[in-house]
Amino acid sequence: MLMQQALLLPPDLKSWISYSDDCDFPIQNLPLGIYSKSGQSPRACSIIGNTLIDLFGLYKAGILKTAHLGLEDLEQETLNRLLAKGKSTLRNLRKDLSEILRRENESTYRSGCMPHLSELNSVTMCLPVKPPNYTDFYSSREHAYNVGVMFRDPLNALLPNWLHLPVGYHGRASSIVVSGTPVVRPKGQMQLKDGEAPEFGTSRQLDFELEMAFVIGKSNQLGHPISIKDAEDHIHGLLIFNDWSARDLQKWEYVPLGPFLGKNFASSISPWVVDLDALQVFKVSGPSPEKPLLEYLKSDKPSNYNIQLEVSITPENGEATIVSQSNMKYLYWSMAQQLAHHTVNGCNMEIGDICASGTISGPTPDSFGSMLELAWKGTKPIRLNDGSTRTFIQDGDSVTMHAYAQNEHYRIGFGQVNGTVIAAQ
Ligand code: CA
Repeated sequence: MLMQQALLLPPDLKSWISYSDDCDFPIQNLPLGIYSKSGQSPRACSIIGNTLIDLFGLYKAGILKTAHLGLEDLEQETLNRLLAKGKSTLRNLRKDLSEILRRENESTYRSGCMPHLSELNSVTMCLPVKPPNYTDFYSSREHAYNVGVMFRDPLNALLPNWLHLPVGYHGRASSIVVSGTPVVRPKGQMQLKDGEAPEFGTSRQLDFELEMAFVIGKSNQLGHPISIKDAEDHIHGLLIFNDWSARDLQKWEYVPLGPFLGKNFASSISPWVVDLDALQVFKVSGPSPEKPLLEYLKSDKPSNYNIQLEVSITPENGEATIVSQSNMKYLYWSMAQQLAHHTVNGCNMEIGDICASGTISGPTPDSFGSMLELAWKGTKPIRLNDGSTRTFIQDGDSVTMHAYAQNEHYRIGFGQVNGTVIAAQ
């Protein structure tokens, strides 16, 4: 089957909705989300600048007329049903929106659109997708190396499989929450000293993990792998993912099957799913493989994305301090490789499934994507702007992650994912 061309909106396209040059959401972005406000049920939406665009409203008013869509696809609690329409229909939707909202068409559409536009801060953004399944990879070489050095030694930092396959595990989909949802500090079992009996208590080593995730927009049948060349045809778009982690719970429980209660108490995602098409101009080559790859993981095309990432910590009633600046381009394993590997045994992906990259750490200490690495297992506390220090996240702290791709014309941003940690109940 021939893959369709990505929809690339021209760099000089402008909208009659105003926005600043450095905003996350120019007319070339047009991500999808779900919003609610009092008196109406949740609806699909997009955004330009700080102006939210109600797609249900535009469709009902007869302004948006994309074929193969119905009102029932746009009045939903999640985007799952809309994503199931497929890339072709969603490309037409994004193209139609760009026509309605482009500056040249202001006199035709502006007055009809106005009742369906809202200021972003006047609405509530909802969980954009309800993922049937969630997988977390471990695709950053720098992160895997750092963790290996901390818990083993520099010579054996990477386990023997790491350079041959994208390591991953099946996470918990039910506890994925949208940005803004408070995160309750988890309790659990931990071994405070080597060789001693475990204790039950409140996690003292609550951490974030800076990740990007892709959302599946096209399923595959059980028993039918997705090839690396078709992989991006199955990905609708990306969002920011904070894989909250309780290191003390994780350290005691993970042998031999991997993460469990140290991870499944919450993961936070950003509310906008940015279309993979909007990111095509930011494609770059990833790191060269250090070991020969098996055939199903080989690709001769650039398949990484140059997306800048930033994490800040804001203490309760305090100011934000940027603690990490990284980039998605550092990933050793691309999303296409992750998906090809995930399904090579015949595993079936479902629409709305979320696959997270794993912590994205860069090569320098200020680009590490978790407190575990930034404060090096608690040995190098980080100083915040208010003079206080952190080795892990405290109650009342908000962790905010921001991601965007930038060129000389515009920025394709993801907004942010934010979560405030509240005391254990
Ligand atoms: Ca993770």
